[in-house]
Amino acid sequence: MEKSFRTSTAVGAVVEFGLVRHALLAKVAAGLIRHEDVCDAHPELLRAAKNIGRTTGENCPLCHDAELVEVTYVFGARLPSGGTCPTSRSELLKLERREEPVQCYAVEVCVSCSFHHLVRKWTAGGRRARRAQAQRKEVGE
Ligand SMILES: [Zn+2]
Repeated sequence: MEKSFRTSTAVGAVVEFGLVRHALLAKVAAGLIRHEDVCDAHPELLRAAKNIGRTTGENCPLCHDAELVEVTYVFGARLPSGGTCPTSRSELLKLERREEPVQCYAVEVCVSCSFHHLVRKWTAGGRRARRAQAQRKEVGE
């Protein structure tokens, strides 16, 4: 089940939230959390999911009515404060190669019941900062 959009230029660890999701769904199943509390995706997120969401091949674990889609948000200097959503892998790679560091968040969304959950996050970019760091190391600072 290869997720088509996986990043290849992450700096450091890609943090996956599969265990958090598993625990969350278990609590919903046990009646400890109501569906309404996890199916409350922001209208903007739903809009992005409908327009540019990438299919995941997995049905929604809550309503089972629709396939989950994934939306990636990228935050960083000189990007919109609400983040930007790359619509293709090449667009994501371009953002990941920025001089300034960027924070990327992949969110899964069900456009049927509005379930949403953070799938993974990673940091990329920042070549300038890392270069400067490497130079500082070379001169022994
Ligand atoms: Zn759903």
